[in-house]
Amino acid sequence: MTATIIDGKKISEIVREEWKERADKLKAKGVLPGLAVIIVGDNPASKLYVNNKIKACHDVGLHSEVHDLPEDISEKMLLKLIDELNQAKKINGILVQLPLPKHIDENKVLEAIKQDKDVDGFHLYNVGALMTGNTVFPPCTPFGVMRMLSYCDVPIAGQNAVVVGRSNIVGKPMAMLLLQEDATVTICTSKTKDLISHTKQADILVVATGRPEMVKAEHVKEGAVVIDVGINRLESGKLAGDVDFDEVKEVASMITPVPGGVGPMTITMLVANTVMAAERDSGNSPSD
Ligand code: NDP
Repeated sequence: MTATIIDGKKISEIVREEWKERADKLKAKGVLPGLAVIIVGDNPASKLYVNNKIKACHDVGLHSEVHDLPEDISEKMLLKLIDELNQAKKINGILVQLPLPKHIDENKVLEAIKQDKDVDGFHLYNVGALMTGNTVFPPCTPFGVMRMLSYCDVPIAGQNAVVVGRSNIVGKPMAMLLLQEDATVTICTSKTKDLISHTKQADILVVATGRPEMVKAEHVKEGAVVIDVGINRLESGKLAGDVDFDEVKEVASMITPVPGGVGPMTITMLVANTVMAAERDSGNSPSD
């Protein structure tokens, strides 16, 4: 079997168009959705991610602004800026690009973002809402994966879904969203014994470990749908996922490539969450 490649770039363009229509409806009523992105320091990968996020906002016609802060900014100053953005009328969504420098308490910063503007969905309130099935802002990467699966008509209810990785930004919320759609979900970690025995059961396998190409053909059941969240820069400069694409595509029925898979979807779902925040703020539902 050679898998169908899930074209995340193409799907993200289609999904982005849906959200552009929703943004246009708001704009026609005088509401311009706005996103503020805060970046601290000079991490090149973070800069690239932020540029892509801002570009996506431009493409959809949203207001966006970047607050580029020096590496040695104090936690107090950062919290002050968040407080100002929490109150700013033209800002519906606030995103703090992670990771932050070590002298800043990441949790404290994420908790300072007003819940209604927490478009990354990392505030404890939004994490709890996701846990109880009352999701307000689904974290962008897992949200993008779910949208991709639905676009590709992948059945989820009753399927075995295995998520490899349990980070707060990918693995855990991914598992919760799959569970909400009635998958039977297993989460694997670096401590899991006999990883293959779990991954081999997966109808849907989502891998988010940050370990380049660790999932091989032997991990994957014939016909499984494989979603590779990983983005790793190899020494050669090439980008690689957490899945050995060349091997696994011969076993899976569908697979996401890296780049061009989950990455573009993540950015599109940030646009989606920002438009949703503006709809809620302004009391406009999408059907208005
Ligand atoms: P983290 O490092 O926060 O988490 C990695 C997880 O993988 C941990 O839970 C860890 O287990 C688990 N893990 C590591 N090694 C193994 C192993 N050998 N077997 C099973 N589990 C393992 O990473 P993130 O979740 O933040 O990111 C994961 C990947 O996804 C990275 O490549 C990152 O760049 C990428 N990413 C891509 C995004 C996109 O838009 N496409 C967005 C966000 C991230 P334990 O908890 O036991 O340590």
